Amino acid sequence: MKDFQYFLKTKVIYGENKSLELAEHIKAYSDRNKAVIVTDKSLVKLGFIAPIEAALQKEGIETKVYSDVKSNPDFQNIDEAAALIKSFGASAVIGIGGGSPLDTAKTASLVAGGDNGAGHYSLMANPFPEKKVLTIAIPTTSGTGAEVTSTTVYSDEKHRKLWAWDTDMLPEIAVLDPVLTAKLPNFLTAATSIDALVHALEAITGQSTNPVIEAVGLHAIRLVAENLPIAIEKNDDMDARGNLLIGSMLAGIAIEHGGTGIAHNIGHALSTVGGLHHGRAVAIALHHTYDWNLDSPRTAVFAKAARALGVTDQFEAETELAKAGAAACKKLIESLPITLEVSQDGLSENSLQDLTAACLAEENQPMRLNNCRYATDEELREFGEKILAFRAVTV
Ligand SMILES: [Zn+2]
Repeated sequence: MKDFQYFLKTKVIYGENKSLELAEHIKAYSDRNKAVIVTDKSLVKLGFIAPIEAALQKEGIETKVYSDVKSNPDFQNIDEAAALIKSFGASAVIGIGGGSPLDTAKTASLVAGGDNGAGHYSLMANPFPEKKVLTIAIPTTSGTGAEVTSTTVYSDEKHRKLWAWDTDMLPEIAVLDPVLTAKLPNFLTAATSIDALVHALEAITGQSTNPVIEAVGLHAIRLVAENLPIAIEKNDDMDARGNLLIGSMLAGIAIEHGGTGIAHNIGHALSTVGGLHHGRAVAIALHHTYDWNLDSPRTAVFAKAARALGVTDQFEAETELAKAGAAACKKLIESLPITLEVSQDGLSENSLQDLTAACLAEENQPMRLNNCRYATDEELREFGEKILAFRAVTV
């Protein structure tokens, strides 16, 4: 077995309405008692933020809200949030939302410690300044696992996806409150949960896997496969919602150390070229690459993943069990309210060159290299061709 290290930093707090009990953590960190909430407009409009802000103010915490985070956050979002953190003299930054507000809150928490903008630090061009605030992450989707990861993704002016990394990027506290995810539209529940499943699958089968990643990743797959259909059927099933949140958090721990793979390589390219939602993009990419992945030295792990995906049949060979896992995963994806055709996104056969170029872009190479099987340029082009030509069979 290969040598490995493993560490945890983020305190994870789980429970219904725990997002209304943040003041004690902020007071314990510093006596400045000032918090900036980083979120997006839709969450403010849907009434997610007001009760959390009211609960903080009731306990003597002053608050400001930055709610301009875009669905694919950019330099401007991070710089504006960081400017507010500085001018307000905040001691805490609370990210509330899906991956975009959480990534913005995490990155702005660090950027606020210095005098440069987010662009200065992207792709590790320069080290981040010392962190001077407490960061609390509260996911309202069960997908990204951003509450327990030290990497963030955002865009530059040309809509290129960039990333930044720092151990200080890990939030000190993650609050998993299933009440917040109960109102998610089914599309978002489906797309974000499949994103979590892909995180777990790519981490446990990837080049950086280790026994801890495998343990948390397999359980994440199990939790998503078992609970996603229940949450789609009955939106306010708190146990299903809670299990999906825990599943996405565990998948976040898995990618924190294990990285992602080809579905994220292609998924990021689909988002760059067609603007697809991240979860939907990786769901589409996994749907087209799962079988191809099986032809790798990771058969035993894919066989375990099949069991986690709910396959109960007995097979003579591990390869057959692994194949049944791929079929089960594709069936799960097809059963969800996720459109697998990309024609609705303005993509067609004519987009192949752009899509292939985006797959081959520098920022996507870590995912390509970490995958259980290496995709040649030609294979990436062929996947693009299949994705662009795909039409669901209507009965
Ligand atoms: Zn993802």
